[in-house]
Amino acid sequence: MPTIGVLAIQGDFIEHREMLGAVGAESREVRLPEQLEGLDGLIIPGGESTTIVQLIDIFGMREPLKQCVSNGMAVWGTCAGMIVVARRLLDRRPQPLGLMDIEVSRNAFGRQVDSFETSLEVNGIDGPPVHAVFIRAPVVTKAGEAVRILAEVDGGMPVAVREGKLLATSFHPELTNDTRMHRMFASISSC
Ligand code: GLN
Repeated sequence: MPTIGVLAIQGDFIEHREMLGAVGAESREVRLPEQLEGLDGLIIPGGESTTIVQLIDIFGMREPLKQCVSNGMAVWGTCAGMIVVARRLLDRRPQPLGLMDIEVSRNAFGRQVDSFETSLEVNGIDGPPVHAVFIRAPVVTKAGEAVRILAEVDGGMPVAVREGKLLATSFHPELTNDTRMHRMFASISSC
């Protein structure tokens, strides 16, 4: 089983660690660059992307994180995490890390309906649809050729994407009892 770090500077990292435990993966909280060492994968959780990016920069994590990805570490960004890993944002802030070839729009579902739950067919997840929780969620507005769209809502808004060992979801699997997405990431991390 892989060792997976959870960026634990802000957001719902505890819930991710519980899910990783449930699928039998080793997990570790990551706050400093040296804690990235030896990880097979890293989850960047939901929270507030401006705060997460600010703290990544304050703790000197930006370059080491990019380096680990070049060396083959898997990364999964959920919600704010999707914003953090993007190449480009339609918003002025924050300055994303540019790990995945995706353009992302923050708070894409507008104010009135900015939080909702729905059933989603996710490519690569067998069995019943995934119960997806969206909280002031982003959406992928453009994806490079190497990016596979795994799930969409409202006929054409990508909310789950994969590019090699990089995964991003607009929703929060860690807030449900369904461990299948974490199992999928564990398997991506160990290959
Ligand atoms: N709206 C938040 C942001 O832009 C993300 C919300 C979330 O992670 N649930 O950072």
